[in-house]
Amino acid sequence: MSDGTLAPDAMIALAAKNGCDAIALTDHDTTGGLDEAAAAASAHGLYFAPGVEISVSWKPKDDPDARSLTLHIVGLNIDASSPPLRDGLAAIRHGRRRRGELIDASLANAGIVGTFADAYALATNKEMLGRTHFARVLVDRKIVKDVHRAFSRYLTPGNPGYVPHEWASLPAAVEWIHAAGGSAVIAHPGRYRLDTAGREALLTEFKALGGDAIEVVTGSHSNRDTADFARYARDFGFHVSRGADFHDPQESAYAPGTMPPLPGDLTPVWAAWA
Ligand code: AMP
Ligand code: MN
Repeated sequence: MSDGTLAPDAMIALAAKNGCDAIALTDHDTTGGLDEAAAAASAHGLYFAPGVEISVSWKPKDDPDARSLTLHIVGLNIDASSPPLRDGLAAIRHGRRRRGELIDASLANAGIVGTFADAYALATNKEMLGRTHFARVLVDRKIVKDVHRAFSRYLTPGNPGYVPHEWASLPAAVEWIHAAGGSAVIAHPGRYRLDTAGREALLTEFKALGGDAIEVVTGSHSNRDTADFARYARDFGFHVSRGADFHDPQESAYAPGTMPPLPGDLTPVWAAWA
């Protein structure tokens, strides 16, 4: 219900076909797909954890001049009707349309015009217009070969089509997830542009906020990232999670149910759930 191409029930059916026995759905900044996914999971006999992936703007506390980064904080096993979570997500979604207009203007500056209308037409959930929709427009127009190149050449810091945006704060995201009874997890920590000091600052602050877990095995980690964050999980005492980061059968490295296992000595975040 954010920027994936399969409907929630089709995503669950694919996971079941791949032999999954437990799964979460974590759309960006919306819980609108959870009822459909829960019903599909129940029909297929899968354990279902309602989830969300919250967009967060963060920079290290002790470096006020640092550039703000966008992080994704996953909430797992949440009660989506919790008012602080529901209201917080609605506030984040609110700025996306305006950001889309600014992305359009930035791409137009680089000679690529009229992308807002095309991206908006691609967005199934009009509240959730995102960079992935613009990336697909660049692919459809044959400006780039695939979505990955759309992000490396456009839409990311330093490139045409990138527009800084203020999302939720890290403390707010953790608070909303906990208020909703969920577990807070840093999504794909290896993907953020952070050096060792930056990674440690993030993990230290997340731990102090009561953060529960970090993703170790994900579709957007290299083997090196997986080893690094397994070590951080041990050092900081985090539980661990595994996420396919699945958006589309063609675009994504892993389909749900096909991820490699977590390192056996670490505790999966779901071990704490009833
Ligand atoms: P947004 O929330 O609109 O800024 O868009 C976030 C989406 O962009 C998420 O679905 C990410 O998976 C996707 N994304 C960000 N960077 C990349 C990348 N380098 N390659 C592919 N997808 C990316
Ligand atoms: Mn996404």
